[in-house]
Amino acid sequence: MPTRRDPLRPLPLSPGPVQGETIGSYLHRLAVANDRPVNGLAQLLGPLPAEFSPLSNTTAGWSTQSPARLAVLAGRPAARLARALLALADFLDPQGPKIRPERVIGRPCDCCTARRSPSASMVIILAPAHQHLCPRHQRWTRSTHDIPLTHLPEVLEAQHHLDRLARRHDRRIQHALDLAWKIIDECSAGGMPLDLGREWTRRLDRIELHSAGTKIPFEDRHRLASFPETAVLTDLILAPPTEAVDPKELYLATTAELGRRFARIYTTRGRQDPLYQRFCRPHTARETA
Ligand SMILES: [Zn+2]
Repeated sequence: MPTRRDPLRPLPLSPGPVQGETIGSYLHRLAVANDRPVNGLAQLLGPLPAEFSPLSNTTAGWSTQSPARLAVLAGRPAARLARALLALADFLDPQGPKIRPERVIGRPCDCCTARRSPSASMVIILAPAHQHLCPRHQRWTRSTHDIPLTHLPEVLEAQHHLDRLARRHDRRIQHALDLAWKIIDECSAGGMPLDLGREWTRRLDRIELHSAGTKIPFEDRHRLASFPETAVLTDLILAPPTEAVDPKELYLATTAELGRRFARIYTTRGRQDPLYQRFCRPHTARETA
């Protein structure tokens, strides 16, 4: 902590925080902008978190003075900082409303980063779990490089679909999405019950039109190519087509609905189908419990 001879002063350069930014990310950006060691800045607020990095988002060990000290450093009122820094908002108002969508570690697109972070430091945010892209700049951000979506309008439409689902189902969306990804991954590995090969190949070709598309891992490309179908499956997981408790009945109703939505024949594979194993059986087990 500073001594009386070393009072806390505003930093000369003070970029504003980005919506949803982690405390660690913001302190790293303040440090880079002002050519200061980041650990020293963090220790002005409280004990240095273990393995402190831009991913850190803890206020553990902070005192009641810490928000005011951050406000001095950043040259902005703590209440204004708290609108973007959610961990600060929770520290200032621990009893405050916690009704927020589930969040995952993410990043803004390169255009948004360049606009908000002139020192070009990376920005780490806690993004809503269902948000996979920057709608303003139409770029996929769930990988190491941005992928432009100009030629993939169905991906943008799928994101709108997930936005609507998130508004309706808020806290269940992350679980449903994770389940949908797993089912699609396992179906892709074991033979697709629906013939989506043409759509996925066409999207992969469009992704690889951009140099960034060839730099990201294949799994990330596949996730992007199958995103529209993942959104549809997420929808069905959140709102099954039947209230039947029998897993077989639920499975047949779900496969029929998937076949209808994709206008394809669904080749049912019974108990071996990841859809049955991961969704129908556990779902009905919960219902009857
Ligand atoms: Zn953007």
